[in-house]
Amino acid sequence: MKVARLLPSRRLELLDEPVPAPALGDALVQVRSVGLCGSDRHYVAADSQVHTAEAADLVLGHEAAGQVTALGDGVTHLTVGARVAIDPAHPCGQCHWCRAGHTNVCPDMRFLGYPPTDGALRQYLAWPAELLVPAGEQTSFDHLAMAEPLAIALYALQCARRDDAQSAAVIGCGAIGLLLVQLLSPRGTSPLLAADRFEHKLALARDLGATDVIDTSKQDIVSGAERVSPRGFDVVFEMAGDVDAPGWAVELAAPAGHVLLGGINPHETIRYQASTARRRGLVISNLRRSKDTTRQAVEMIERGLIEVDRLVTHRFGLAQINDAFDLFMAYRDDVVKVCIDPAAE
Ligand SMILES: [Zn+2]
Ligand SMILES: [Zn+2]
Repeated sequence: MKVARLLPSRRLELLDEPVPAPALGDALVQVRSVGLCGSDRHYVAADSQVHTAEAADLVLGHEAAGQVTALGDGVTHLTVGARVAIDPAHPCGQCHWCRAGHTNVCPDMRFLGYPPTDGALRQYLAWPAELLVPAGEQTSFDHLAMAEPLAIALYALQCARRDDAQSAAVIGCGAIGLLLVQLLSPRGTSPLLAADRFEHKLALARDLGATDVIDTSKQDIVSGAERVSPRGFDVVFEMAGDVDAPGWAVELAAPAGHVLLGGINPHETIRYQASTARRRGLVISNLRRSKDTTRQAVEMIERGLIEVDRLVTHRFGLAQINDAFDLFMAYRDDVVKVCIDPAAE
């Protein structure tokens, strides 16, 4: 099978590798869609010390869907031919944190496309069947691949639950930001501010439910946000991973507000005004992936409750993987989500 492997040269190379055999409890999946993620971008761009050191030789890809082609022993709840969304997180289930329910921070986690576990940018993948969520024939593979970022957005919302929250700001309108807007809007969240430096993403955010948008390439976000909500925002989701974004998030938050940091910041050290955070009594927390929300994400996508089709802006085959990353990393051509179909020519 063809595999796109990130080599120490930082180029992805197509290699021929053997199709894996499904072990006990695993299913073999023909991968049909893999969404490229901001975290993949950091590995390829080598713009963060942490990411660069870890991924010398790795298959990326963790937002994936495909079709089951074989079952390992002991798998009873799946059938060959089933269309599945792949939950990329395989926590050990045994450690202190897993037993306490914090499976998303399991130190012995296997996570697709995260060192040392190879990810989904390949034609076939063997993965625990319990982590494959079946879906109906009518749901496209690209839509199913979006279940992973949606699971993160759902988990972010759970983490940020403040019963009296009325207003929210989303900084960063990549896929997860745009999914968050869609989850917040039907709850009557208002104002619901979306900020980004790209016009096409802000247009999408507005269409998908943001009441106000700020183009951070043209406008000062802090004064702009103050005009939208003079008392601040009860919850601020930082989903940009930009060097300035954590500082903005703190400035936008209302007294007693909650700042959720979800962006991956390549600079490693983040900065915000300590006195602002202290005087407002802000809760500032970090978001780590998702936890127990994949099935809900698949169900919402299948029922058409979430717009994912407009978020998948580009599609490539595995042979064009470097073109796909070039486009994604240059933010060209109104890109939001790039999906790769390893079965395509
Ligand atoms: Zn991701
Ligand atoms: Zn564990």
